[in-house]
Amino acid sequence: MFNVNAALVTQSTDSSSSSINSNITRRVQHSQFHEQKLIEKYCRESELLKIIENAVASFTRNYNLTLKPEEALAPLLIRLDFEYSDLIKHGQQLLYLALREPLQFAEALKYSVYGQVRDLLKANDNGPKSIDIAQLHTQWRLLDLPLQENLLFKPTKFKCPLGLALVHGILSAYTPPEILVLQSIWYCGGGCMRNAIQTSSTEAPLCPNCSRSMSEYQKLRVTESYRLIAILPSVCAETPRQLNRIYRPILVRLRAHTYDCDLKLGAIYLVTGYYNSTSTSYQFESCHLKRIQRL
Ligand SMILES: [Zn+2]
Repeated sequence: MFNVNAALVTQSTDSSSSSINSNITRRVQHSQFHEQKLIEKYCRESELLKIIENAVASFTRNYNLTLKPEEALAPLLIRLDFEYSDLIKHGQQLLYLALREPLQFAEALKYSVYGQVRDLLKANDNGPKSIDIAQLHTQWRLLDLPLQENLLFKPTKFKCPLGLALVHGILSAYTPPEILVLQSIWYCGGGCMRNAIQTSSTEAPLCPNCSRSMSEYQKLRVTESYRLIAILPSVCAETPRQLNRIYRPILVRLRAHTYDCDLKLGAIYLVTGYYNSTSTSYQFESCHLKRIQRL
């Protein structure tokens, strides 16, 4: 939303546009800062801070055991579950943000947790005093969002709510697990003692010092599996003989951390998720999947 406003102002020929622009930039920064602070407050008042503390303690312990420089680039995988019932009581603003702008929520969460991790590391007597944000992988889920009509994907109109949406239906297909590389760590074989992290690509980066192609610490690669699944909306089962209408299943990208149940063809599932675009695709991304008994 803010980007749209900023673009409009940029096109304006008004001489005051630059000051409006900077005001908008300030407001966006302020709002992102505000969101991060809200998340930090929520973490402190819930069990989530303990999860962050444990991840930092384990990262520091591993580094201190080996004292290898590449271990300072090891990942921090932090899985944070937000319970709907708890958000309603103690974090309504956050719930509203997650529902309206899940991608913005994910971004704010990552930066907020990064700030908390840095504070914890600074307070450590031993071990690395900071990390690169590329080492941090926050895996969030919003659990037990009730089945609400306004959030439900409507296959009759092929209409999906903006923000977080619910897809409710029958599992009709799934692919075998595929591997998603979250992070890889690289070193320079030319004696430069340089290390580097890659997150979105598995291609060897070039050494920033001597420009040689770097080699990977194979054992330090961090991956997560995912599947693509097809969910046939429940309305197809309710009205199987409607003329002139073909129902298509919704394709969902299901990362391993977003579900704990078995996948069974023909069983009924409720997916909480959102549309996400990458450079190569535009997909419905699962935030949580659970099996339910009835349509
Ligand atoms: Zn080098």
